[in-house]
This record gives sequence, C-alpha cells and structure tokens, in this order.
Amino acid sequence: MLCEVCGRPSGNLKKILLEGVEMLACEECSSLGIEEAPPQKTKKIDFEEMEIRKAGAFDLGLDLKKGFGKIISMARQKQGLTFEELGKKIFEPVSLLHRIESESIKPSDKLISKLEKALQVKLTEKQE
Ligand SMILES: [Zn+2]
Repeated sequence: MLCEVCGRPSGNLKKILLEGVEMLACEECSSLGIEEAPPQKTKKIDFEEMEIRKAGAFDLGLDLKKGFGKIISMARQKQGLTFEELGKKIFEPVSLLHRIESESIKPSDKLISKLEKALQVKLTEKQE
C-alpha cells in the first residue's frame, strides 16, 4: 500500500483527514492530518432507553412549572428518598428520574401525576 500523502510504500497506513479529505497516510504523514476515529458502533437502544423515550414527552397539553426538576429534587430530598427509592416507588428507571430532575426531558402526563402523588407536589400550572 502506498501512502496517499507522500507516496511512499507503507505497511501501516492510517486513515486521516487532511484538509477535510480522507486519506490513507503512513505513520509519518498521519501526524499531518487528523486521525479519524474508528467508526462508532451504533449504540443499541436498550430497554431502559426505550422506556425513557416513551416516558419523555415533549409536546403535551400540560404546562409544566418552571423549574420542575428542582421541585421534584427538593420534594424527593425532603422525603429522604434517593433516586433509587423514588424509582422503585413509582416504577420508573433511575436514569429517567435523573434526566427529569436535570430537566433534560419533560415527564409525560402519566409520569407527572405519579410524581405529584409520590412526592406530594404540584408540577403543572393551573390552566385558566
Ligand atoms: Zn506518507
């Protein structure tokens, strides 16, 4: 195999990006470009991820209060519950609770009412 940069034969060619062009380069030339990361294995969506996607709602009628994550977090801590304990209580994965408390996803209507009941808080604004 020949290095596509300098043309010298090399038994150890690396795929690099040189000025945006993918090239096969020898050891010496590979330092000129950005070494291309090996292709990532497509992350398999596991069961928990599926549950999170199902539970995560993005366009629902209910108006979540601003700072709902904080409300949940404070109510949970007030009750002395860990994520794990709360998860067990409402049958939801811990990572889902993490994401809700960090507000990276919004809980679904169903989950909102479960959280409200478990933590005795109000998470939605009253619609007039
Ligand atoms: Zn070379």
